[in-house]
Amino acid sequence: MQFDRPILIVGAGIAGLTTALSLAKRGIASRIVERANALEEVGAGLQLSPNALRVMRDLGLLASLETAGVKARNVLLKDARSSRILARVPVEASDGTPYLSIHRADLQRVLYEAAQREAAIQLDLGCELTNLQPIDTGLLLAMRTTHSETKSIETDLLVAADGVRSQVAANASLAPAKPSGMIAWRGRIEMGNASSEIATATSSITAFLDRDRHAVAYPIAAGRQINLVLIEGDGAQPGETSALASRFSPSGNDLSRLIHASGSFTPWPLSVTPEDRPWRLFDDRALLVGDAAHGMLPFAAQGAAMAIEDAAVLAHALAVQPDRASAIAAYETTRRSRVDRVRRRAGFHRFVYHLPRPFSFGRDLVMALSPADRLRVSLAWLYDWTPPA
Ligand SMILES: Cc1cc2nc3c(=O)[nH]c(=O)nc-3n(C[C@H](O)[C@H](O)[C@H](O)COP(=O)(O)OP(=O)(O)OC[C@H]3O[C@@H](n4cnc5c(N)ncnc54)[C@H](O)[C@@H]3O)c2cc1C
Repeated sequence: MQFDRPILIVGAGIAGLTTALSLAKRGIASRIVERANALEEVGAGLQLSPNALRVMRDLGLLASLETAGVKARNVLLKDARSSRILARVPVEASDGTPYLSIHRADLQRVLYEAAQREAAIQLDLGCELTNLQPIDTGLLLAMRTTHSETKSIETDLLVAADGVRSQVAANASLAPAKPSGMIAWRGRIEMGNASSEIATATSSITAFLDRDRHAVAYPIAAGRQINLVLIEGDGAQPGETSALASRFSPSGNDLSRLIHASGSFTPWPLSVTPEDRPWRLFDDRALLVGDAAHGMLPFAAQGAAMAIEDAAVLAHALAVQPDRASAIAAYETTRRSRVDRVRRRAGFHRFVYHLPRPFSFGRDLVMALSPADRLRVSLAWLYDWTPPA
């Protein structure tokens, strides 16, 4: 399919940058507008599973990500109170694609530098979409720059990669993202300051399970730091280290050591987009990708992975389908069923991770009796996904 003008992408997050790179790989030009002046460190760590990393391999970026991240062979599930290992879930793919834990800033840097090298991508930082309206020849976008100048841009097709609080969705009068009732507390530990017990406890991705809450720890920044996320209900609870430690873990165990070593925590209230949110807007002149389409709870560690898959599927559809409407329809049909399945999986993890006693005893027994291979096979539909050729 031919485009007379570059496709306009709103947002230079993981979804926006991967979409632009996937389009460029298929010879389609794009222009990204991003409200931030610079793509600075946002958030903390991310797990990137093989399904997402196959897209990165196709874009020629896997080696850089492997250098910046840390390879995991298993995800360990532990009892938060006793530190007992409940299960080892193998996450290495049979085709050799790794499972990485990585700093978000490293992922964003690798994507951003690749986009800068690409002639088919124009990047406008410090440029915020404030309004849009359909016109006969496409869509007319109103932008505000960092210096409060206004400008307008016309496009035939807009890809909204502007995150869970999408401005494009708001302009289309869609129901906004809603609070999930959960909050994530984000902390980080410098490995140089960590005790050997902490280093051993976090050599692989570890989830600590407890009633109504859980924590996840893993190495990032090529192993120089540990990312720690504590997730619980978002009632009015203090976020000081001592208060978090007493809610999450008795003193003297692995998780308590991690919480104290982290020192301070940043709150991150978790919002989700409505599951029935339409993705095709303004008579197929705009569509949603990434968190703008399907912001979900991070219990399956798949939000960014789904954004990355979206990018590969959308670029393929726009390249091979005869017209815009069929391309966008193909994108939505392919993606929606998979994203819904991932959402259900995240809901299942939430239920299982947060089980109270005595139900957690049953869970622990089932996990102990499940061969590692069976756990791997149960996730094959997720991790073995391959991008369209
Ligand atoms: C605690 C936590 C842990 C997580 N862990 C994982 C994990 O391990 N693995 C995983 O795959 N996912 C994980 N996720 C999910 C993942 O972080 C998100 O799914 C992913 O970052 C979404 O990327 P995005 O590009 O769609 O949105 P964003 O990262 O929100 O990017 C949106 C971009 O659009 C820009 N923008 C917004 N509005 C405008 C506007 N009006 N004009 C111009 N630009 C605009 C923003 O500045 C931003 O750069 C986690 C999420 C949380 C909260």
